[in-house]
Amino acid sequence: MEAAATPVKHYTAYKPRPFKREERKDVTVLFGGLTWKHERLIQGALQNLGYKAETLPNIAREDLDAGKELIDVGACCPTTFTTGNLVRFLKERSAIEGPEAAANNYVFMTAGACGPCRFGQYHESYTMALDGIGLRDFRLFLLDQTNLDQGAAAGGGLEVNLPFTLGIIWGVLCGDILTDLEYRTRPYEVVPGTTDRVLKDATERLYEAFRHRPVRKSKLGAVAWHLLTRRFTNALRDVKKMFDAIEVDRLRVKALVKITGEFWLQTHEGDGNYNIKRWLEQEGAEVMPPPVCVWLDYLLYMGAQKLTDKGDKKKARQVRWIRSIYKWVYNRFRAAVDGVPSPMPDQDQIAELAAPFYNYRIEGGEGHMLIGKALKAHLEKHAHMICELSPYSCMPNTMSIGAMANVVGKHPDLLYAPIEVKGDAEVHALSRLQMVLTEAKKRAQKEYDEALGRSGLTPDQVRERAAKTPAIKRGVWQVPHHGCSGTAANVVLHLAR
Ligand code: SF4
Repeated sequence: MEAAATPVKHYTAYKPRPFKREERKDVTVLFGGLTWKHERLIQGALQNLGYKAETLPNIAREDLDAGKELIDVGACCPTTFTTGNLVRFLKERSAIEGPEAAANNYVFMTAGACGPCRFGQYHESYTMALDGIGLRDFRLFLLDQTNLDQGAAAGGGLEVNLPFTLGIIWGVLCGDILTDLEYRTRPYEVVPGTTDRVLKDATERLYEAFRHRPVRKSKLGAVAWHLLTRRFTNALRDVKKMFDAIEVDRLRVKALVKITGEFWLQTHEGDGNYNIKRWLEQEGAEVMPPPVCVWLDYLLYMGAQKLTDKGDKKKARQVRWIRSIYKWVYNRFRAAVDGVPSPMPDQDQIAELAAPFYNYRIEGGEGHMLIGKALKAHLEKHAHMICELSPYSCMPNTMSIGAMANVVGKHPDLLYAPIEVKGDAEVHALSRLQMVLTEAKKRAQKEYDEALGRSGLTPDQVRERAAKTPAIKRGVWQVPHHGCSGTAANVVLHLAR
């Protein structure tokens, strides 16, 4: 007698249950993945549209373990951390509210894409984890990061329309402005802790601006309002006044460290990257954080290029036009804080700089940008060293680090610290970084001494002049670039004039 064939259980992709429009007032929409400032502003934009929006708790070390237990071996470190983060939240809610309520009372939205790296597979990891904790019924929605007007997701509860998307993008741009001011100010604050306090108030000022946006129903109305309103520039002017009140001492000699690397890892502030930005500041560095807005600019740049390749000149022109408007909005926000935050880099220049080492058509992760940005900062003297945060098990970043070996061979004076982040090898990563930072500090001191020599001033005379120049002591002040990487050296040369 033949044995009965075992029925094959075919793979079926995860499909969320509908999230209905009428559930919107009761169900909390979860999101995360950026800094707490960006997330707070996005929360305001979503609440403004009637969503009960909450951010996931900031990444903690335990999320790595939770992620490792539930998803595939060898997943990249950001996937493991973010999956574990969602799992931690759901487990906590299940313990308090019960598993059924946890699955029904929350939905999670995250960005997704296709492409050669795991970013296109995040949702697979999430669903694998949901299976693992018995919450397959939990609803998660993947938003296409390249489509501004996707319409309603299954059930209509989540509507990705222009007010929704523009709110998120404007939130990202304003979050970048806040982060830029924060990192320029904190290393030089005279009273420790002032910047963090002001930053919190400034974020709340902007949050209120997003929370109480007037809602425009028509697409044209939403676009026109976002482009023309003074609501956000007025709020940013208030932010500038708040930061101006912070007294700073820009004559402290500090190594300027530019952070590059994989998108999530370089943006994150927390256990996911060993709190590396805070650690660098504690070690006496000034950190140049990467703005999130560059990512969208890169997507638009590559999108226009692909349309040109296909011969669709009309659409390519439209994308370039959208890109110009996008940059114009960011520059308008920068102007509201005296133009101090760094402008978006020129993508053509980044691609040209990277070209001898990494073809800009190779996509995945940050692609050629890692090489182009490092070279730009080095050649134009905007940083003493580059710290590249590279996730464990990340294919695109591994390629970029390989290409950087060639870059460093051709530019031996480029101080480059590629730091692999596994999440559980902090001592190793930080001690490696400290070695390169020590050299960067020496360079910063040497540059400062040379600036003093060129100025013909003594340190006391420099301080006397600084005391008579109130602008220098304000939180928001554009340090003129006199060809030095470090802030203090540029200030000396400025005062010498
Ligand atoms: S770029 Fe690397 S770290 Fe980021 S999602 Fe892709 S594989 Fe993971």
